[in-house]
Amino acid sequence: MSIFDKLRADGLQAMLDGRKEGLKVIGAYCTFFPQELAIAAGAVPVSLCGTKEDPIAAAEEHLPRNLCPLIKSSYGFAITDSCPYFVLSDLIVGETTCDGKKKMFELMQAKKPVHVMQLPSTQEGEEALALWAAEICRLKKRIEEEFQVTITDENLREAIRIVNEERQAIKDLLDTNKQNPPLIPNVELLRASWSSMFAIDKRDGIRAAQELKAKLLKEKADAQPTDRPRVLVTGCPMGMGSEKVIRIIEELGADMVAMENCTGYKTLELQADPDHEDPIMALAEKYIQIPCSIMSPNPRRLDLLRRMIEEFKVAAVIDLTWQACHTYNIEAYSVGQMVKDLGLPYLHLETDYSNSDVETLKVRIEALLEMTR
Ligand code: SF4
Ligand code: SF4
Repeated sequence: MSIFDKLRADGLQAMLDGRKEGLKVIGAYCTFFPQELAIAAGAVPVSLCGTKEDPIAAAEEHLPRNLCPLIKSSYGFAITDSCPYFVLSDLIVGETTCDGKKKMFELMQAKKPVHVMQLPSTQEGEEALALWAAEICRLKKRIEEEFQVTITDENLREAIRIVNEERQAIKDLLDTNKQNPPLIPNVELLRASWSSMFAIDKRDGIRAAQELKAKLLKEKADAQPTDRPRVLVTGCPMGMGSEKVIRIIEELGADMVAMENCTGYKTLELQADPDHEDPIMALAEKYIQIPCSIMSPNPRRLDLLRRMIEEFKVAAVIDLTWQACHTYNIEAYSVGQMVKDLGLPYLHLETDYSNSDVETLKVRIEALLEMTR
């Protein structure tokens, strides 16, 4: 795993060095951000989602306490200048996903230039696609004006190819968990997929994923199958610092073999067509398909979950909702129904970034795992 730790460390150093040569950085908080635009502009896209509890107290001086910890952590990092990636960002791109995030972006404008994309709340119909394509166009113009560059179709097609390749390489790595024993379960799975978001050059991320996959296949070639319960985690995004549920799963003798959330599989299968006659439309068609609970309706999430449960031979599903995330909280009902219809144990957890409920979580996860044995 040092391959991915090194990727993050090298990425940050390269960003610091690149600043001296005028390198531009675009920070974003959501997988709806079409990162290909940043790459085509010669800038670096970086994920700014807060995954640690430390800056939440500072955020609560401006934001309500009963708000999603991901939003509070992200905002807290921003106002305390304690995230180097936020400090290095020249432009912040947000989207009108959930209510908490979109109102947070209004406050964030006091710290940095923020561009908010108006995301349709449905994936259905030509109007939604046309609106989203127009918003991608508006972002393209903003980046061009902000950085005094021209984003050509040729550069955009090349960026689409690189991002497609990177997504495929990460998917290939995580797919090794379809076998028994899984090659990269639990926190290591999270560490790999989360760290890949910090590669300054996507080619480094591709290389790291391919190298790690080859290494794991070699090292674990003779590993024997295990009877540890195979768990799938779905729901809100997680990152290093907010991985307490995964640590508990591992401690209790089970393996999280797959994550459906935004740090995991949610976008890994989505590819834009580099040969589309209009590369902006290619991006719009790709990103509007993201099966996030802020979309209404959101049938693609259930389709993806059903397929992952089968392909990863899952024995139980844990659905994680961060406190005050209404869309994932409400969608838990439909996810629970679907999982139970498949005859599998299902557990919905609502929690935050603190460790105050770890003992309760352990008891509930242990009870779930008992049902698989
Ligand atoms: S869960 Fe939805 S809103 Fe949150 S990062 Fe993913 S796509 Fe964006
Ligand atoms: S976890 Fe839910 S409330 Fe938090 S930022 Fe994502 S969609 Fe919004």
